[in-house]
Amino acid sequence: MTLAVGVDLGGTNIRAALIDVEGGRETGDVKAPVQNKNPEAVADLVAKLVAEVDPDKKRVGVGVGFAGMLRGWTGVVVNSPNFGWREVPLRALLRDRIGERTELYNDLNAIAFGEAKYGGAKNIADVLCVYVGTGVGGGLVLDGKLYIGSTHLAGEIGHTKVVPNGRLCGCGQRGCLEAYVSGVHLQARAQEELHAGKQSSVIALAKSIDNVHAGFLDQAASAGDAYASELWNEASGLLGLVLANAVTLINPQRLVMGGGVWQGAPELKRRTLDVMRSLANKPSIDSGFSVSDTLLGDSAGRLGAAALVSGVFS
Ligand code: ADP
Ligand code: MG
Ligand code: ZN
Repeated sequence: MTLAVGVDLGGTNIRAALIDVEGGRETGDVKAPVQNKNPEAVADLVAKLVAEVDPDKKRVGVGVGFAGMLRGWTGVVVNSPNFGWREVPLRALLRDRIGERTELYNDLNAIAFGEAKYGGAKNIADVLCVYVGTGVGGGLVLDGKLYIGSTHLAGEIGHTKVVPNGRLCGCGQRGCLEAYVSGVHLQARAQEELHAGKQSSVIALAKSIDNVHAGFLDQAASAGDAYASELWNEASGLLGLVLANAVTLINPQRLVMGGGVWQGAPELKRRTLDVMRSLANKPSIDSGFSVSDTLLGDSAGRLGAAALVSGVFS
């Protein structure tokens, strides 16, 4: 039995578990909110959770899926919109605290690998996985192997441009998909527009403007609220278009979808899948192609990161 620690370091939550990699089983998992986004504080928190799930160091290594863009295999975070980081040597900070056998992956790469080996796309060779949560991320498993691209940046679907010179994204550029459909951006934009005087039943649903998030917007949109419905038409239109083009480009057998917004917004999901199916290249979705929601939910990232660091599937 090969044991590895898997960590999912998302923009909102961090989750860790000690995992039996061959069996895809985890012993007790731990979760903590990411409150202090200072790099040292984040590394301290990861080290604390790793010690909690594997106090006797039964692991062959620690795999960390991180919500940010990495530079090749240097372990340096080039840019993390969710953490507000640029050029942070995260892997070195982690190794100082945990030990040498610690590897860093993109969070959606780890999630895609987890779903492909244990979850919603088990035994499927070609998989595209897209999560709409705090941000928007994607991962690719091609021919059964994680595809990281030439410099570890494959799958950055959240930063594909949907509006030239459009809304400012956390990555520093404008017009990214993430700036139109991520949880953080939807929430900030809706609150800003409602504070500026837009009328919507979502305010009553959420009890106050400052409580409005994608979940309440989804309820309002499905009840026919004009403001939420218009916002949802735009968000589903852009997300559906990008997914359709990705499916056309990559020709995966399975598209796995997940993330806090995706799972908490059924109306957005329904509209997005309608758009995706209408815009994808017909032959690409006509035979053998299917869409599923994440089967592993919150555990996909830590399972995938543990599997990757263990080397069991490579
Ligand atoms: P992470 O991106 O850290 O992995 P999640 O995938 O869980 O986290 O997504 C968290 C995001 O989901 C939050 O930023 C928030 O905007 C959004 N969110 C929180 N609650 C809901 C809800 N009930 N319905 C839809 N979206 C939600
Ligand atoms: Mg996540
Ligand atoms: Zn961006």
